[in-house]
Formats: sequence, structure tokens, C-alpha cells
Amino acid sequence: MNTEDTICAICTGIGGAISIIRIAGNDALKVGQKIWCGQAELSSKNSRKMLLGKIILQNGSVGDSALAVYMPGPNSYTGGDVVELHCHGGALATRQTLDTALQAGARAAEAGEFTFRAFVNGKMDLTQAEAVCDLITAHSDMALHLAERQIQGKLSDNIGEMRKELVDILAESESRMDFAGEDLDWKDDSIFIDKLEKIGAEIAKLLESGREGIVLRNGIRVVLAGKPNTGKSSLLNLLLGFDRAIVTQVAGTTRDTLEENANLRGIPVTLIDTAGIREATDMIEGIGIDRSHQSIKQAQVVFWLLDASAEDIDSEISEMNTHTVDKENLIAIWNKTDLVKHKTLPELPCPSVNISVINSTGIADLLDLFEKAVWEFPHTEEPEIAVNARHAKLLEEAIEALPGAAENLGDNDWELAAVHLRAAISALALITGEESDPDILDNIFSRFCIGK
Ligand code: GDP
Repeated sequence: MNTEDTICAICTGIGGAISIIRIAGNDALKVGQKIWCGQAELSSKNSRKMLLGKIILQNGSVGDSALAVYMPGPNSYTGGDVVELHCHGGALATRQTLDTALQAGARAAEAGEFTFRAFVNGKMDLTQAEAVCDLITAHSDMALHLAERQIQGKLSDNIGEMRKELVDILAESESRMDFAGEDLDWKDDSIFIDKLEKIGAEIAKLLESGREGIVLRNGIRVVLAGKPNTGKSSLLNLLLGFDRAIVTQVAGTTRDTLEENANLRGIPVTLIDTAGIREATDMIEGIGIDRSHQSIKQAQVVFWLLDASAEDIDSEISEMNTHTVDKENLIAIWNKTDLVKHKTLPELPCPSVNISVINSTGIADLLDLFEKAVWEFPHTEEPEIAVNARHAKLLEEAIEALPGAAENLGDNDWELAAVHLRAAISALALITGEESDPDILDNIFSRFCIGK
């Protein structure tokens, strides 16, 4: 991406009360002055002040009222000069202002281009830029907090410290290579080997956080499955907190899969309500049931609803067993327990819970089981840091280089130790972007939305 020219884009979602058009680059002020006019001049002397004025359209006529602000670099989001115009929302008015900026010499920004400039100008490193994207797409408080901590530089600091220690050890190894044979006052090798061990433990801890990262960034697909009329749609509505699915006594009402995003215990989830599984009565129901099977296969967690009030309890269970063979993270849910208060329900080979959607009982127990299924390990508090797949791959490269480094340091083979140390340092530098590969950068920034 060219980082010299002046770019512009709508930074806000269409349809809100206000739209913000951001112009960034060396000519940002010039473009801003061409297309906006107010009582106070848009200039360095009025920088960082919101000024009221009007948009001047390309044909010279006066357009919409707008607030303008000039933020000279380096103290701006991109690190370069930025002008923002705050106009009335609405697709047409916003588009008109954007077109005016384009006609005045700015170019349409590509996805993530403002943040890319911030990265290039040293306003943030690569992990912080990635966190900006995570922040925008966060679907739960926990994911949001995680992104905020990454933007603040928690992961960068962690990686930076490890990298610095490795660079110190490398410097020592290189000095020993350069002054081999001289009897200087060298530090004891064991200090470095201990340091490498500590760094290895730190990297292993970060790698463990990767699973939390996947859950919080990508969310979990949770499918509600079971025979017709077991209460799947009722449970979906209860978990969402609003009536999304139609609930009736007529078996087979839900004929297609329904998807809705929610968060359960801070975990972002896509809840999928499925057509009840039975012998289809017509072609459309048949297609719906096929989709249910597909959803069960793709889901990370299955909530299988069983009707506790059914006469044939064994057939409820055998239906579940048939359709969930080898399925991990299956939670059996005995629903409608309000109808059978004193009935003893059979033990099941998977985690199970008794609930009544109608009375809202047992839901906390269900969520306990859900949390346990998702985290699969003790998860008592929000993670401070959770690495993503790109970080994890590079951390693995770094950790793999450490035993070789330690072994060669122990053998006083400084040259070979340096090779391993450089590999680990380079992997860590790729995480923060101190070293970078254009393809990786393209891949990261193309995931952003236009205007960010
Ligand atoms: P689905 O076909 O599995 O989606 O089931 P629905 O959610 O449409 O529910 C089928 C019927 O069971 C409706 O009449 C619901 O009101 C009823 N139902 C759902 N949950 C409960 C419950 O906990 N207790 C009782 N008594 N009825 C329930």
C-alpha cells in the first residue's frame, strides 16, 4: 500500500445519526480546506478544535452542515495529518461528502489502510493493529476486554521483554565469538541457560492462551437439537432473551435452521436452532432435517434436548445416541421437568442437566456445564492475554529454537547458539511486526473494514 498519498473513507456505519469522513495523508489539510468552509479557518492554528461549517460541493454550491477537525501528525490515529468531517448521517449525504473529498484529490482508502499507516508510522505494533480489528468484531465483554488489553500493549510488552533478553544473550554469544581465547571476565553460562528456560516457560504459557483466543475471537457454534417438540425453540428464545423462534405445540414447526449470535457466560456463541429430528413428513421438512444433521456435525457444542415427560423415554435417549455418535461436547438436557417433578430420569453417558424452560429452572446448571465443555480446563478468570493463530505459529517457532540454543551455550559453541537465538528472536519480531512480510501484512489488514 502506498503510504504517501492522501486517502479518505467513511469511518462510520451507514444509517446512524452522524457520519464521519476521515481524510489522511500529506494533503489532508489541503483537501479539507477545499471541501469545507466555516467561520473559523481549518488550519494549524485551529488544530484539534471542532469547527462548525458547511461542505462545499465540487460545483461550488454549499452542501450539508458539518463539523471539521484537523489533527496534524504525528499526534493522530495514523501518525500523519488527518482531517475528519462529521456530517449528518444518511447514505446519500455521506456519500456526497465522500465524493467531494475524492474529487478534491483524495483517493478511496482500502480496508484497514488508516490502521496500516498507524503501524507504518510506529503508532502501534502489529499485535496492537490486530487488536483494533478484534475490538471491532468483539461479540462479548470478555473478547472486548482482551482486545483492549492487547491494544494497550500487554502482549507487545510481554514479547518485547522476551526478545530483549534473547538479544542480550545473543550479544554475549557474539562477544564470546569475537574474543574467543581471551580470558575476559565472562558471566557464568548457567545464567543464560536459566534465562532461556524461563523464556520457554513464558512462551508455553502464551501458547496455552491460544485456545482461549480462538474461543473469544471466533466464538462457539452451539446447536440445539433433539426430537420435535422437546423445547429447542423455547430454549433458544430463553437464552437469547427475546422471541426469535416460533414456539407451538405442533411438532415440526421449525423446518429450517435458525442462527442467532449471543453470549453465554461471556463466551460469544452462535446458537443454532434446528428442525426436530424425526422421519420427515414432506420434502421441505426432509431438507431441514438434513441441515440439522449438518449443523450437529459442525457444532463445537451440542445441546440435545430430551422430553422428560415423554412416555417413551428410551426412544428419546436412543435417538440422541444415534445422531451424536463420537460427538464431543454433547450436553443432554432433560426439559419439561415441571411436568414430571418426581420422576427419576435415567443416567446418561454424557453430561446431563434437568431444566424446565417454562419455569426457567436449571438454566444456571446448564450454563455451568456449557462453560466446562468450552474451556476444558480450569478457567477462573478472564485471560490477561490470549494469542491468535498467527502468534501461536511464531511462538512455536521461537520455543523450538530454545533447546538448541541452551545446548550449544552449555557446550560453549557460541556460533551455533547464535543461530538458534537469531531464529527465536526473528520469530518474536515477526509477531510484533518489527520484522514483517508483505504478504502477512496484506493478509492482516485486508481483514479490516474500510474506514478503519
Ligand atoms: P421444539 O419443536 O423442540 O422447538 O419445541 P418448542 O420450543 O416449539 O416447544 C414445543 C412445546 O413444548 C411448546 O408448546 C412449548 O410451550 C412447550 N414447552 C417447551 N418447554 C417446556 C417446558 O419446560 N415445560 C413445559 N411444560 N412445556 C414446554
